[in-house]
Amino acid sequence: MGGSTIVGILRERARTERRVALVPDVVAKLAAAGIGVLVETHAGDGAWFGDDAYAAAGATVVSRPEVYRGAGVIACVQPPDDAEDGLSPGQTLLGLLAPAEHPDLLRRLTGRGVTAISLDLLPRTLSRAQSMDALTSQANIAGYRAAVLAAATYGGFFPMLTTAAGTIRPAAVLVLGAGVAGLQAIGTARRLGAVVTAYDVRPESRAEAESVGARFLQLGVGDATGAGGYARALSADEQARLQRALDEQIGRFDVVITTAKVPGRRPPVLVTEAALKNLRPGAVVVDIAAGELGGNVAGSVPDTTVVTDGGVTVVGAGNLPAGMAPAASTAYARNVAALLTHLVRDGALTIDPADEIAAAVVVTVPADGGTP
Ligand code: NAD
Repeated sequence: MGGSTIVGILRERARTERRVALVPDVVAKLAAAGIGVLVETHAGDGAWFGDDAYAAAGATVVSRPEVYRGAGVIACVQPPDDAEDGLSPGQTLLGLLAPAEHPDLLRRLTGRGVTAISLDLLPRTLSRAQSMDALTSQANIAGYRAAVLAAATYGGFFPMLTTAAGTIRPAAVLVLGAGVAGLQAIGTARRLGAVVTAYDVRPESRAEAESVGARFLQLGVGDATGAGGYARALSADEQARLQRALDEQIGRFDVVITTAKVPGRRPPVLVTEAALKNLRPGAVVVDIAAGELGGNVAGSVPDTTVVTDGGVTVVGAGNLPAGMAPAASTAYARNVAALLTHLVRDGALTIDPADEIAAAVVVTVPADGGTP
């Protein structure tokens, strides 16, 4: 691709999406770096960024077909539903493309000569990639939002209160999975005054959870650290042991927040139906992992709240960052801009296979029809 780079921003059309891939502040910074921006009309409405603000920042606000026609790179949050109609060979699609969830779409796009760049594939432990790490920026928001949502749903106080009528004990909160979202959920629940306990299968998460104020729970499963800082999937035996230990211990908690994921796989079920039965009526469970691939809680459905026969409220959290669209879009836009400015050389988007970041984020689809 030659000449100057033009980035196109579409209005996100997924049902629960309110985020937008670039915000006006970041448009202005890209302009200063020689990257032009085309924005579809009303693209930022869901995050409270109006067309006027984009225009004032130097973007050109146009129709959706004009964005597709005029941009070399389409930056998105989720893959657009009309990507196949809109994108032409030689163009690039950049976003949280979730290759494990959309293998067929990505196979067809890349097969037609579209370059797919997925922020989900960014190396997580490379310090020079931190400013581009959209999974981290969005998981931080999800963790914060989950703790606030749990506090608002729970019928008691999070903090200990000493009142004229006596002392009220603080809520006991359990956070399962102490990665980025889990650590933020722990910190937020602690700041609200709850007593927080955490669990993760990666032993190194213990010190991190304790440093933000949680006690660490032992559930009898050994080290399950996998590649790239992520957890590996548990064996059936480990999974059963973990579930049994949790079934026994869960009853003493008022609130459970689950964040456990394994890249590209169905999230492990940690809170079983038996565990739900062992929780007290009024307890609240927020499943951040609930999504298209499943969740951490038996029966949880994304974007749906159910109350069990035993009086436990199970919130299938779904797209939590979209609930804080202005903050989430701003953070995401900075990640997108950091990646774009890294990839643009002499005005053109350049994928240097010798560059560790570029080599990781470009979606490559096996010719044999396997998963990208
Ligand atoms: P994630 O969203 O894939 O998973 C969330 C957490 O669930 C992880 O901590 C994982 O260990 C845990 N988990 C998985 N299976 C579990 C199970 N059966 N029971 C309990 N917990 C389970 O992870 P993430 O939050 O995206 O973090 C991934 C890694 O990237 C972590 O090691 C994190 O520290 C690292 N990271 C590093 C940096 C950095 O170095 N700058 C930045 C961001 C993330």
